[in-house]
Amino acid sequence: MSKLSSPAVVAALLAEHGIRLKQKWGQNFLVDENILRKIVQTAEVCSHDHVLEIGPGIGTLTQKLAEKAGRVTAFEVDSRLLPVLAKTLASYPNVEIVLQDALAADYDRFCATSGPVKLVANLPYNIATPLLYRWLKKYRSCFSRLVCMVQKEVAERLVALPGRKAYGVLSVVCRYASQAEIAFFVPQTVFFPRPEVASAVVKMVPRGETALAADEELLFYKVVEAAFAKRRKTALNALHAAFGINKEKLLFLGGVACLDLSRRGETFTLEEFVRLTRLLAPHLPDSC
Ligand code: SAM
Repeated sequence: MSKLSSPAVVAALLAEHGIRLKQKWGQNFLVDENILRKIVQTAEVCSHDHVLEIGPGIGTLTQKLAEKAGRVTAFEVDSRLLPVLAKTLASYPNVEIVLQDALAADYDRFCATSGPVKLVANLPYNIATPLLYRWLKKYRSCFSRLVCMVQKEVAERLVALPGRKAYGVLSVVCRYASQAEIAFFVPQTVFFPRPEVASAVVKMVPRGETALAADEELLFYKVVEAAFAKRRKTALNALHAAFGINKEKLLFLGGVACLDLSRRGETFTLEEFVRLTRLLAPHLPDSC
């Protein structure tokens, strides 16, 4: 079979199966050998790896992963692509395609037998952010590493530090749950069809140990979300509005932890959010 990384081959395969691409599923396929190679290299895929790919499309990246990995499982939501994948992956016995919405998948169940997997994906743009939240907050122990192509702005939000415009809830959650870096940037020209936005590949290695115990994490996420809900509000006003604790008490607690709550929440570092969570926990009902 001809190389899948050719726009002409992609167009012919889709026409042969009567498939019109759907924007709602972010169907922009990679057509650049160099970028495919760099993704596999960034994930350091080797023969003892079980790789989980999200959205195999017509199988372009899947083929490259299957050449290096022991095993590849790929979740695809678009059933029309299954006959295409059966054809393009026919000579890769180590690949299993599962018709599965990645947003609804139970990754704990998936990894129960295999242990942590490497997640490698050219993510559908419109669901990249909710998927990353889910993985980082709920399922990080399922992954030994995540290597994901995302919209450039999402990549910048993932790794942003306080004081940057891109700094937000996603940045804090990502830093809390993983060590993340932008591996490289990717222009629109390497996709078929071309998207309107530039992309970047992000590498995230989930932390084995996190700063907070599992039962404190729910509150941590609420504190972070409250702090960013109204970016122009002080942390004092944001926390008062979110948790109903009176301001004098909040100021006292802030003083105990050397945290100036008259600052905007968006200026707080991860370490400060962790301290704030520990401080607030005893003063909130269990339901918080
Ligand atoms: N991996 C291929 C490549 O790099 O050429 C295709 C990537 S394309 C950006 C995104 C893929 O994700 C498409 O195949 C799309 O159908 C699939 N997809 C979209 N939403 C999905 C979801 N919720 N669950 C699983 N797959 C999804």
